[in-house]
Amino acid sequence: MANTSDSQAASRLDSQSHTVIVIGGGPGGSAAATLLARQGFDVTLFEREVFPREHVGESLLPASIPILETLGVIDEIEAAGFTPKFGATMVWGRDPQPWSWHFAETNATYPNAYQVWRPTFDHILLRNAATHGVTVREGCRVTDVSFDTDGPAAVTIESESNAEVHHADWIVDASGQSGFLARQLDLRTHDDFFRNLAVYSYFRGAKRLPEPDAGNIFIEAFEHGWSWAIPLPDDVMSVGVVVDAQWGGDQLRTISTDQFFHDQLAQTGRTTAMLADAERLDPPRIIRDWSYTAQRLVGDRFILVGDAACFIDPLFSSGVHLALSSAVLASAYVTSALRHPDLRHPAAEVYTQLYMQQYHQFREMAALFYASNRTSDSYFWEARRITQTTDDVSPREAFIAAVAGQPPQGYERVVLERGEAPADFVEGVAEVEAERQRRDTEMARLIDNAWPNRSPMLDAVPTLADGVDVARKPVVGDGQFEWGAVISSATRPQGAPVSTLVATLVLRIDGQRSVRHLLDDLLDGLPEQQTAQLLPGLLTALRILYVDGIIAHWRSA
Ligand SMILES: Cc1cc2nc3c(=O)[nH]c(=O)nc-3n(C[C@H](O)[C@H](O)[C@H](O)COP(=O)(O)OP(=O)(O)OC[C@H]3O[C@@H](n4cnc5c(N)ncnc54)[C@H](O)[C@@H]3O)c2cc1C
Repeated sequence: MANTSDSQAASRLDSQSHTVIVIGGGPGGSAAATLLARQGFDVTLFEREVFPREHVGESLLPASIPILETLGVIDEIEAAGFTPKFGATMVWGRDPQPWSWHFAETNATYPNAYQVWRPTFDHILLRNAATHGVTVREGCRVTDVSFDTDGPAAVTIESESNAEVHHADWIVDASGQSGFLARQLDLRTHDDFFRNLAVYSYFRGAKRLPEPDAGNIFIEAFEHGWSWAIPLPDDVMSVGVVVDAQWGGDQLRTISTDQFFHDQLAQTGRTTAMLADAERLDPPRIIRDWSYTAQRLVGDRFILVGDAACFIDPLFSSGVHLALSSAVLASAYVTSALRHPDLRHPAAEVYTQLYMQQYHQFREMAALFYASNRTSDSYFWEARRITQTTDDVSPREAFIAAVAGQPPQGYERVVLERGEAPADFVEGVAEVEAERQRRDTEMARLIDNAWPNRSPMLDAVPTLADGVDVARKPVVGDGQFEWGAVISSATRPQGAPVSTLVATLVLRIDGQRSVRHLLDDLLDGLPEQQTAQLLPGLLTALRILYVDGIIAHWRSA
């Protein structure tokens, strides 16, 4: 009779080789797998559950819509009957009345997102991966990844019936909060500021907000935290409360989850009123809601995507978007690593920088948002009033880090207008905005759009700001990283990609030569017609460089 290890060996199938293995079939895994398959690679995705499966996180951001278009699923998503989401409505800050803001105020191209049933939404994305040629294996849990040899990584998976070992040149870990590789390699660092827990359930028959806000997410601050209400199809509402993890955990040791959920919701005046005639559909669930990052996002033969890499507080509904956008970058990264080995290390740095930049933007905004609710003295709000800027970072620098040097839009704008953000921060923002405005007005006078070759700017002499650097770095091109030029400065520490032409122009600015002189030099030898075509774009680039603080000042020739 075969012993246990013999029978395990018998059920272990022959090893199989792939170019890429993706762990996890959530939005991050499905999107990365789809894009890699589209590049022509052999991609296998292992998902431990069988879809459709339950998942929290129903509220999307408009920034995800172009990615869904790229993935080729937007028509199916529009046809699925999800609730169009035009903005957010909040009770937060000094104003006890709900206030709304709408994506259209800052995003004319994509004025809405959707509130989605995650089981259906995630299933659409996973099926789409299969349609694009990804081998999708549901009900297969990855239990080990070994990078022991120099060759392909060995991935052990277990399903109900057997265990298998597969090999792949690259592993994309999109295993969500369970963070398979981050745990195996001990990479995860928790963020002390955002240690929350959430309790949530689904209700039928809840009242919606009045039009035009009926599809909005509704967020309400209350004594011990904040609540969400997300209107879903079929008259269902996702409702949750977010509280301090320590405090909530202590409470949940003394009372039932039911009682706790009920007690917290009872403190939310308006959400309670919305739920007055509603029927709860499920027992409430508890989910740990701690923010974290991984010390490394890219390693030898692996890359982390979505929640497997990092997670930020759900206040701004950013999770699915970060998963999708990191998947786009990760697919570009793996494509480049496979095709252009010289890009492997520098592109890994750029992937990390771009992902962390987005992560920190949402993080700084969430910290600021928490700090700007001064209506309650409870532990939750007191602990979160500490702004997260250290003494050696000025409010101006904190602002630049938070909004990546751009004028505040969307949520950032709302925090400033509606919340009670610390005065020095608000002043920092006002100063940056006024300076940008002044520079833009000044530039408008120097460019003649009708007759660019007569623009007064041609006779002005630009000088670069201190610390401007033009570097050759990988930038995201058509589905992969490629070498390009990136300009960084004190106002754009994270750098911005520019065309080679603009980079060359910047490198020639010496504080001595006029724009006419610089352009003559730059465009020397080009036919007159081409020079005339390039001129307006180059003058506009100089204008933007000045508004952004890369050009410090101008003087007359
Ligand atoms: C309380 C709360 C509220 C939230 N609200 C929102 C919101 O309103 N909007 C929003 O955008 N985001 C929200 N989020 C965040 C959002 O849910 C996640 O950021 C998003 O789902 C991340 O996608 P992902 O693909 O990285 O991971 P996931 O969607 O979690 O997918 C990971 C997949 O990997 C699979 N998996 C895990 N381990 C293994 C393994 N070993 N082998 C095989 N498969 C495995 C899992 O089964 C899962 O299907 C919220 C999060 C929390 C905690």
